[in-house]
Amino acid sequence: MHDQPLTGLTLGQLAAEALADLGAAADSQALESWYATYLGRKGRITQAVRRVGELPREERPTFGQRANEVKRELEAAYEQRAQALKAAEMQKALAISAIDVTLPGRPVARGRLHPSTQVLRRIYQIWADMGFQIYLSRDVETDEYNFQLLNFPPGHPARDMQDSFYTTTEGILLRTHTSPGQIRAMRQFCPEPIRVILPGMCYRYEQVTARHEMQFYQVEGLVVGYKIRFTDLKGTLNDFAQRMFGAGRKTRFRASYFPFTEPSAELDVDCILCGGRGCRVCKYSGWLEILGCGMVNPVVLQNGGYDPTVFSGYAFGMGPERIAMLSNGIEDIRYFWADDLRFLEQF
Ligand SMILES: [Zn+2]
Repeated sequence: MHDQPLTGLTLGQLAAEALADLGAAADSQALESWYATYLGRKGRITQAVRRVGELPREERPTFGQRANEVKRELEAAYEQRAQALKAAEMQKALAISAIDVTLPGRPVARGRLHPSTQVLRRIYQIWADMGFQIYLSRDVETDEYNFQLLNFPPGHPARDMQDSFYTTTEGILLRTHTSPGQIRAMRQFCPEPIRVILPGMCYRYEQVTARHEMQFYQVEGLVVGYKIRFTDLKGTLNDFAQRMFGAGRKTRFRASYFPFTEPSAELDVDCILCGGRGCRVCKYSGWLEILGCGMVNPVVLQNGGYDPTVFSGYAFGMGPERIAMLSNGIEDIRYFWADDLRFLEQF
């Protein structure tokens, strides 16, 4: 019955073995398995303590005391080891996920607005400040709206200026100018007075060159009301030129011709690059043409639903790309739609 492993000395050996094993436990999993091996319900220490009853009565108190000491000692060693492992694992996790805050950040490649959009928005802002609303109209138009109602009857010589993209449906084409929107706005608002700008993309079947594209933006303006005179046109457009190109800008109106206005004019400003002294951009004239304008032709007013003996109005049209080209010395209009980042990143 007197079993060697149950003596105090053997308990000491078991404890030494347990401590050596504990020192070798390298992670929390090994630690848990160590605990089960020695201190768990079926652990070697627990088993040893349970067999105290097998000892002679007089040896039992000493053995019990010693066994409790060993248990406490191992419990304490276990706690210490657990703390150390936890700290080591934390250090390891921190080292892996460490962020070097001194590294320079990666710059985000930011996009920007297309130069045409930038000019368009500037134009919107100015006209909005002057009380004009933006009126959007369709890109695909009928021959009636694009030409006939604007006083371009079939065979009118002005149609030669605008070779068009026709669709496979007869009488339907891509608008060659934003002017059909004038008729649409008039028919929508008649008989109320109108103050709108009509921006949008226009399409012409052109030979593409440095000066001509087959797609480009236009911004037209339309004012219809009572007693609108040519002086209103001049004053308003002169004000626009100051706001767009700078205060103190000189302007001049030259007589011109458009089928949908009568009389018609072109508006020039003194060259924004040379200040009127003469340079390559203004072709040494000192002036830059920036828009066409005129009093709405009575036929067009009538087509829009307004009685030309009661109402009058004026209209104007400009090209944002042309303005961007003049302002930035861009010599080739093809850059605008060529998707070349070297060009676009300059704006
Ligand atoms: Zn000039």
